[in-house]
Amino acid sequence: MAFPQEIVPELISYLKNLERRGIKSLYLDAATSELNVEPESSRVTPDHPEPEPKDTPVATPAATASVAGLLAELETKVKVCTECGLHEGRTNSVFGTGDPATKVLFIGEGPGRDEDIQGLPFVGRSGQLLTKILAAIDLERKDVYITNMVKCRPPNNRDPQENEVRCCEQYLKVQIDLIKPRIICALGRIAAQWLLDKTTSLGEMRKSEHAYRGIPVLVTYHPAALLRNPGLKKAAWEDFKRLRDILTD
Ligand code: SF4
Repeated sequence: MAFPQEIVPELISYLKNLERRGIKSLYLDAATSELNVEPESSRVTPDHPEPEPKDTPVATPAATASVAGLLAELETKVKVCTECGLHEGRTNSVFGTGDPATKVLFIGEGPGRDEDIQGLPFVGRSGQLLTKILAAIDLERKDVYITNMVKCRPPNNRDPQENEVRCCEQYLKVQIDLIKPRIICALGRIAAQWLLDKTTSLGEMRKSEHAYRGIPVLVTYHPAALLRNPGLKKAAWEDFKRLRDILTD
C-alpha cells in the first residue's frame, strides 16, 4: 500500500516536536491516534496477520520507565547486600547511574573513596577525566549508563578479588539484561576479563573485537590508569574514537 504523502509534513513536524520534548521513540498506535491516521494494524485482515517483528524492539517511554523501576528495585537490594566482605567497609553502595535507555554502558572496577562517600560512580578524578573524554566524543554523562563490577568499595582502592566479583556479578548481569545497551565499554582489565571470560592482558584485549552475550564489547583503559600513566592517553583516545564511530554508524 502506498504511503499517504499528504501526511508527511505533519508527521515530520510531529516527530520534531516529540524530539524537542525528549521523546526518542514511541508506540505506533499512540502516534497514529494523535495524528488521526488509521493504524496499520487495524488495516490487516484477520486472514493475513502481520508477522511478529523479529528485531529487538526500540525502547519506548513506557518500557524505559519500567526498566528504570526495575533498576531502582535492584538498587534497594544492593544497598542492604552483605553477600561479600566488601559491605563491611562501605559508606554507601554504588549501584550505577545514567540513562536506562542508553546505547552505551560503561563498566569500571569498583567504587573509590569519593564514590563511596557520594554513592555515585566515577565522581572523583577518574570520573572527571571520563566526563571530559565523553564530551570529546559528543556524549554527556546523562546519555550513558555507568556502573562497576563490584558495588562496594574495596579497601585502599585495591582491585576487587575474584570471590567479590563472583558475589556481585548477579547485580551486573541483571543491569546488562535490563539496559540492553547497543555496546558495552569495559573500563580496565577487571571488567574486560569478566565480560570476555579471559585472563589475557588489557593491552591484548583492546586490540580485538569482542562480544558479551551478543552485545559488542569495546575494551579500553580505566581512567585511573590514564591518570597514573598519561602515556596511555593516545591509545585510549583511539578506543573512544572507535566507540564514537560505532555509535554514529
Ligand atoms: S560488593 Fe556486591 S556482593 Fe559484595 S556486599 Fe557489596 S553489593 Fe554485595
